[in-house]
Amino acid sequence: MGRAKKGCGCAAAVLLVVVAVAGLVGWKFFWPRWKAQPPAASGGELQVHVLDVGPINGDAILIISPTGKTVLIDAGDAGKDKVVLDALKRYKIGQLDYFIGTHPHPDHLGAAAAVIKAVKVLNVIDNGLEPAGRPSPTPTPAAGKAGKNTPAPKAPARSAKKLKGPTQFFDDYQDAVKLSGAHYEIAEVGKKYDLGGGARLTILGPSQPWFTKEQMKAGGNEPNANSVVARLDYGEFSMLLPGDAEEQTEQRMLSKDLELSAKVLKVAHHGSKYATSDAFLRRVQPEVAIISDGEWNHYGQPAQPVLDRLKAANTKLYRTDLQGEISITTTGKLKGDKLYEIKTAKEAKSDLWTGRPPQKDDSSRAGFIAYGDFGPPPKTKTAKPK
Ligand SMILES: [Zn+2]
Repeated sequence: MGRAKKGCGCAAAVLLVVVAVAGLVGWKFFWPRWKAQPPAASGGELQVHVLDVGPINGDAILIISPTGKTVLIDAGDAGKDKVVLDALKRYKIGQLDYFIGTHPHPDHLGAAAAVIKAVKVLNVIDNGLEPAGRPSPTPTPAAGKAGKNTPAPKAPARSAKKLKGPTQFFDDYQDAVKLSGAHYEIAEVGKKYDLGGGARLTILGPSQPWFTKEQMKAGGNEPNANSVVARLDYGEFSMLLPGDAEEQTEQRMLSKDLELSAKVLKVAHHGSKYATSDAFLRRVQPEVAIISDGEWNHYGQPAQPVLDRLKAANTKLYRTDLQGEISITTTGKLKGDKLYEIKTAKEAKSDLWTGRPPQKDDSSRAGFIAYGDFGPPPKTKTAKPK
C-alpha cells in the first residue's frame, strides 16, 4: 500500500514536471508565434494604391482596409498634395486613420503638411528624426511615447518668421501635425496596427539605436537608413513597405527575427543601387516588385543592377514612372489561382527592365539630399548631318 502510494506520488510529480515544461515551451515558443499570426481575412477587399507622384521622385502609398480604415504612407514632394488629395477623393476617403512618414526627406514629406491640413488625420507615425538625422524635439516627448493616446499640443506661435530653407517642409509638417490634433507616435518595431477585417500593419523598422551619420557606409545616409519599414498582412496577402531603407538597414533586419517574406515588395529608395540586395531578396522572395519613381530623377533610379537583381529573383515588375498609379486589390484568399490583382493607370511605353542612366550619385553622407534641382532630363543631342 505504502509502495503503491509512493509510486503514485512519483508519477504525479513527473506528470507535473511534464505539464510545467510543456506549458513553459508553449508559452515561450508557440504562444508568441500564435500571437504573431495575423487574424483571418474577412474576405472583404483590401486595396493598395501606389500613387504616381512623379515626374520627380517621391512615394505616396494609400491603403484602404476591408473595413474602410485608411493609411497613407508618405505624401510625395512639395506640390504633390493635389495628386494625393485627388486620389483620396477618387476613393471616397474622408479621413486618414494613419499617416506614416517614413523619413524626413522632401520627396516623402514635402506635401505632407498640405495633406494633413486638408484631411482629418487621426494618427501620425514617423521615425522621430529631423532631416539632419537628430532626434526631433517636437512633437513633444509625451506625445511621442509610442502607445500613449495623447493628442499632440497646439503648435507654439513662431516668434520670427523663418526663411524658407531646404528643410522648411519638415517644419511645416511638424506644425501641421501639431495643429491637426492627431495622436503622434514614434514607430516602434513589433508594434501592430489592426486595420479591420483581418488586415494588419506591423512596424519592422527602424530599430533602436538609430543609425548615426558616422555608421553610414558608401551610399547610405541616416534619414534613409532609419526609414519606417512596415509590412501589411491580409490573409495570404502580404506587402513590404521599406521607405528608402538601403542595404545597411536590410542587413540589420536580416539579422533579427522578423517576418520579411512578402508577396509584394515596394522597392526601397525608388530602385537605388544601394538598396534591394540579393540577400534581402532571397529572404523576402517577392512575387511582385513595385518601384515608385519619377522619370525626371537625376539619380539613375531605378538602377540597372537593381532591375537585374529583381529579374534574377523572378519578380514581376511594375513602375510608376512608366505605368502611372499602380493598384492592388485582394480578398486575402485565393480565388482560383489568383490571390491579388494588379492594375496600372497606363501601359508602359518603354521596357520596364531598362534602368535610368544616372547624372549624379544617389547617395549623400550629409544626410540630406537636395531634391530641388530637378527638371526635365536634358534632350539627347543628335549629331547634325554633315
Ligand atoms: Zn525617397
